[in-house]
Amino acid sequence: MTGTASSKDPSKKFSQTTRVTQLGRDPQQNYGVVNPPVYHASTILFDTVEEMETRAAIKFEKGTLNYGRQGTPTIFSLENAIAELEGGYGAFAVSSGLGAITTAILSVVQSGDHILVTDSVYAPTRFFCNDVLKRMGVETTYYDPLIGGNISSLIKENTRLIFTEAPGSHSFEMQDIPAISQAAHNKGILVMMDNTWATPLFCKSFDLGVDISVHAGTKYIVGHSDAMLGLIVTTESCYQKIKETTFHLGQCSGPDDVYLAQRGLRTMAVRLRQHQESALEIARWLQQRPEVSRVLHPALPEDPGYALWSRDMTGASGLFSIILNPVDKAAVNAMVNDLDLYGIGYSWGGYESLILPSNPSSIRTATKWSAEGPLLRLHIGLEDTDDLIRDLEAGFKRMVR
Ligand SMILES: *Cc1c(COP(=O)(O)O)cnc(C)c1O
Repeated sequence: MTGTASSKDPSKKFSQTTRVTQLGRDPQQNYGVVNPPVYHASTILFDTVEEMETRAAIKFEKGTLNYGRQGTPTIFSLENAIAELEGGYGAFAVSSGLGAITTAILSVVQSGDHILVTDSVYAPTRFFCNDVLKRMGVETTYYDPLIGGNISSLIKENTRLIFTEAPGSHSFEMQDIPAISQAAHNKGILVMMDNTWATPLFCKSFDLGVDISVHAGTKYIVGHSDAMLGLIVTTESCYQKIKETTFHLGQCSGPDDVYLAQRGLRTMAVRLRQHQESALEIARWLQQRPEVSRVLHPALPEDPGYALWSRDMTGASGLFSIILNPVDKAAVNAMVNDLDLYGIGYSWGGYESLILPSNPSSIRTATKWSAEGPLLRLHIGLEDTDDLIRDLEAGFKRMVR
């Protein structure tokens, strides 16, 4: 019980399916109990004033216990697990995925800076840039997600950060992250990636050159639609700055939400295997439907993003979109409203299927979204695929009236 190496040290010799069952756990330190304890903590007591002062001086060092807001063993356990899984140096658990994005960006920009953000970005990230960053005097330029290495033509003297997201929210374009990273690093610029879709299991963002990766833990890591959580994963060189900024912003996460994320992590590999398989089966079925013009899913060989996806990711999750052939809104609503198994609602990554009509053209500024018909985004949950297909089939019948 020395508190150093565990007998179950999750060495890299194990596959990641095995590692998600082990990372961040240390039963030997915890009376043999399988899972880390859930510490509910604000105050953390010190033995002496001297001890308090020593701890305050190292408060920005990884794993320092100082005050509940700055992390507890429960929180460090999840942070370490996610960092190790994705290949980063350290991680930070914060209140939501959007909180992870905004905190990470605020950690690296200052007034007068310029940042580049993909036009396919998660919409609330855009709203943050257009509102808060703008008020702070940070300028945002949106770029074509397919730009690749040509991003260098958009880099200005004061460009500080390139924000990427692959595949794109709702529209699923893949981005050439290694090419973008190389162009950025040539000019000393940082690269951030919203890696929520692929998760730390299917995309090792740091191998692609990313400096800071952000996740909506709310989605597949929690995996059961019952908690909000964000994660920032970083290289060693960006760690300190993010640690300080989370401190200054008062960012933290709740013990029970972190516990739910740890619990979700244990089954993430098997859940994702099923999400992937079911989503691909349904995507292929949708490709054959006369009502569907195109399926936007980078793991389909017909998808324009397939080459990048197969080069940079080792799996796909359960979220993709379809473009319908031209049809009016009432017909789309008739289809969507009466589905039995697909809920209408935001978020995704839980065990249950969801569907959402969406129109990327309303927010794009760098590129024009020209789809032949309405877009529907589907999250394929863990239900039986025959049931899910029959439900969609009945929905398509309702579209023709
Ligand atoms: C949902 C989502 C977020 C935000 O996560 P929240 O936990 O809902 O704040 C960020 N990025 C992507 C790609 C998302 O889908």
